[in-house]
Amino acid sequence: MNDFKELVNYCLNCPTKPCKKGCPLENDIPKLIKLAKEDNFLEAFSVLSETTVLSSICGRICPFDRQCEGNCVRRLKGEPVQIGKIEAIIGDKAINENYPIFSEIKENNKKVAIVGAGPAGLTCAAFLRKLGYSVTIYEKYDYVGGIISHGIPDFRLDKVIAEKTFKRIIDLGIEVKFNFELGKNITLKNLKKEYDAVFLGFGANVSVLPNIKGKNLDNVYGANEFLESKKVLDFKGKNVIVVGGGDVAMDMARTAKKNGGNVLVVYRRNEKDMKANKSEVEVSKKENIEFIFNTNVKQIIKNGNIYKVYLMTNDGFKFVYPCDYVFFAIGSKPDEKITKKLGLKLDVDGYIKTDKRQMTSLPGVFAGGDLSRQERTVAYAARSGRDAAYNIDLYLKKLTK
Ligand SMILES: Cc1cc2nc3c(=O)[nH]c(=O)nc-3n(C[C@H](O)[C@H](O)[C@H](O)COP(=O)(O)OP(=O)(O)OC[C@H]3O[C@@H](n4cnc5c(N)ncnc54)[C@H](O)[C@@H]3O)c2cc1C
Ligand code: SF4
Repeated sequence: MNDFKELVNYCLNCPTKPCKKGCPLENDIPKLIKLAKEDNFLEAFSVLSETTVLSSICGRICPFDRQCEGNCVRRLKGEPVQIGKIEAIIGDKAINENYPIFSEIKENNKKVAIVGAGPAGLTCAAFLRKLGYSVTIYEKYDYVGGIISHGIPDFRLDKVIAEKTFKRIIDLGIEVKFNFELGKNITLKNLKKEYDAVFLGFGANVSVLPNIKGKNLDNVYGANEFLESKKVLDFKGKNVIVVGGGDVAMDMARTAKKNGGNVLVVYRRNEKDMKANKSEVEVSKKENIEFIFNTNVKQIIKNGNIYKVYLMTNDGFKFVYPCDYVFFAIGSKPDEKITKKLGLKLDVDGYIKTDKRQMTSLPGVFAGGDLSRQERTVAYAARSGRDAAYNIDLYLKKLTK
């Protein structure tokens, strides 16, 4: 714990709280660090629980340099306070010592259905429970967590900690119906009939593919679905191209590398424009993943067992790279096979349209997280889940006035 003392004592407890403003969940970082300095971990955790139920996860995988730590005043003259590490330590302590997430839940007689058990759905469920609602989550797989469980690779996040975090959320009294997929074995119409309100949080994990020849060939994949499917391929000695410059590209590249592939990341802009966490790019380089910048894939042609990837640099230089697998990690969107069936208004790119209260075009149906077009991080998804819980509460209270 001495190291922990050093971590918290480095914080200046700035009254203007710039770190809090940088946090998508607006965790009261100075307040919880102050309590941690006084060894009051129970209270520090209850400060966190006012805004989040995912501390042990966010404390490990948030892009801190773009969020809280990027706003820390300590950063101006050196290193920021390691806010993520502090949050994870307090979150882990709460799990190990079984600190309650919420003090008391007063039941009301209303029930809400949630579709999707990712960070948006789980957080919405937790805060609705806090408000006394009876909550049922419908999840298409037989596990919860969404991309935290089936996207972010195990080498980046301790899944035992993630599972313990989810269990504590479910233990708030949330019912989870596994293997229920909206659009297949449940309909929005029925949910609407059975529940007082519905929250849709089924994500946007369908890879966008470029409009080029060869995009549908056998060994050409969307990285999002590939990681989600947990498919195991023999990458040993194989040449792998990963196209993209974000976190998904880095996770895909590192997964292929760790399984023996020779990996080349192709990115259309400069290195400094990459959206991926800088530390992930650095680790990838150390792992001998190669990068080529300012370059686009023009077409892919299958030649026997080899895939020829035709590349062109931004200044017009053309070349061919023979490889065994190509993964596109250039963005993702909601599954239109589902969204188009719902009868809700969508925007031009197929995201579910919501108003300021996160309500869709169907009264009583709310949406949030990746499927409602917002910044793609766990903390932003959780924030929209939390906000939706309070919006649903306001909506239902107004209805019964
Ligand atoms: C590979 C990868 C790495 C990432 N790394 C990071 C990172 O390091 N840090 C970070 O902050 N963010 C990261 N992100 C982004 C982050 O994971 C997402 O923004 C976040 O998970 C979105 O949460 P969500 O709840 O909206 O959707 P999801 O996490 O996608 O959850 C949606 C849930 O809905 C379920 N579902 C889908 N369709 C249906 C249906 N029809 N019926 C019922 N259930 C359904 C899914 O199974 C899933 O459980 C990463 C994303 C990816 C793809
Ligand atoms: S900005 Fe940095 S130093 Fe100031 S209160 Fe926040 S974490 Fe502490």
